[in-house]
Amino acid sequence: MLSRILVANRGEIALRIIRACHELGIETVAVYSEADRGAPYLRLADEAICIGPADCDQSYLNIPRIISAAEITNVDAIHPGYGFLAENTGFAEICRDCGIGFIGPGVEAMRLLGDKVEARKIARKAKVPTVPGSEGVLANDAEAMKLANEIGYPIIIKAVAGGGGRGMRVVHNDISLRAAFNAAKAEADAAFGDGSVYLEKFIVEPRHVEVQVLADQEGNALHFYERDCSIQRRHQKMIEESPCPILEERDRQRLCDAAIRVIKEAKYVNAGTVEFLLDKDNKFYFIEVNTRIQVEHPVTEMVTGHDLIKLQIQIASGEPLKLRQKDITHQGVAIECRINAEDPKNNFSPCPGLITEYRAPGGPGVRVDTHAHQGWTVAPTYDSLIAKLIVHQKTRPEAIATMRRALEEFTIGPIKTTIPACLEILSHNLFVKGKIDTGFVERNF
Ligand code: ADP
Repeated sequence: MLSRILVANRGEIALRIIRACHELGIETVAVYSEADRGAPYLRLADEAICIGPADCDQSYLNIPRIISAAEITNVDAIHPGYGFLAENTGFAEICRDCGIGFIGPGVEAMRLLGDKVEARKIARKAKVPTVPGSEGVLANDAEAMKLANEIGYPIIIKAVAGGGGRGMRVVHNDISLRAAFNAAKAEADAAFGDGSVYLEKFIVEPRHVEVQVLADQEGNALHFYERDCSIQRRHQKMIEESPCPILEERDRQRLCDAAIRVIKEAKYVNAGTVEFLLDKDNKFYFIEVNTRIQVEHPVTEMVTGHDLIKLQIQIASGEPLKLRQKDITHQGVAIECRINAEDPKNNFSPCPGLITEYRAPGGPGVRVDTHAHQGWTVAPTYDSLIAKLIVHQKTRPEAIATMRRALEEFTIGPIKTTIPACLEILSHNLFVKGKIDTGFVERNF
């Protein structure tokens, strides 16, 4: 078993990982930027080390500084969390070369699946349906136009290296294609240093359904059922739930089997998420694999009762999974709301600042994953996520009732947060009926 882990992240996920390590008897090293100096969660780590100024490039994204911190503090492995360096193949490679464990997939699988065009090829090899679209990277707008006409509009142009909903453009006709092609390329280049794009048929009003998987070095690959993440704004998730409320047991099984086939085809190890779009006829199409733990992992933990971070660490320690697929069942319904420092009344513009008022909800069925507290300043430099509010109940109506009650209890001020927006969504009759798709928020709010 690993005995000392460096957490190369900040905020709620850093705290989540520190807690899991301590329950496993593993020592932790936290890293922090000058902006996070003095954060109380850092005191929970066995050691905390400053890696640079607030600017991510000089701290949380700075590979030499993080590797130096790992060397100085003599850790066995690094947990990257999500975001920052979690899907950076170069970082995983450097960890490997330095003899430091990387708690995530192997470099090759990560590289392959990090390229969305290659990932589509793997899915097709595994006989998993992909959204109709390009075989490879689009050379120019003329090629894009030719393909768009073959497939039929609407189409979506996507970044090969994409993530976080960036580098994507929906196109409805030839006239707007060239501008969208160039805009997607420019955005992808700026965000990922790689302007390569491909295109897919734009599925109209789909649900986003993803399968949580874990695989060990011995080739055991298990699924932990699905999450429905259709409540999105600008292709970014806001509310997630498990299970998907409309999936019949037979379809759930087919979806989870498909996810496992992709993972096996990619010779994937550790935790990953296979993402699909579900069309109106409940036909599913693979879109991508996220090669890390995800923000929304707690809903899966609540319904399955398994701690995914601990399982990640056990796999990275070289231990085979002791679980078998039949040991993994799901019970009840879990919902997660992402509480961001954003103003829903002002087009969700970021709302950083000092929190002077903070009261977290509690009671039966409520889990709050956060590092925030009264006196904490939400820095403008980082992601605006303040807290994840998760509820777990026997049925979906009960889970919705608990979530509404918990959202009403949750007091964060004076900065604006997405709590009122989440409450409105939770109260919408179509959400209550489970009739949601990825366009729900933009259409109704
Ligand atoms: P990212 O890696 O940037 O998050 P994804 O490929 O996971 O990008 O897509 C993010 C979201 O964008 C999806 O959940 C969905 O809402 C939308 N999307 C992506 N591809 C399509 C498509 N072919 N048709 C319709 N919506 C899509």
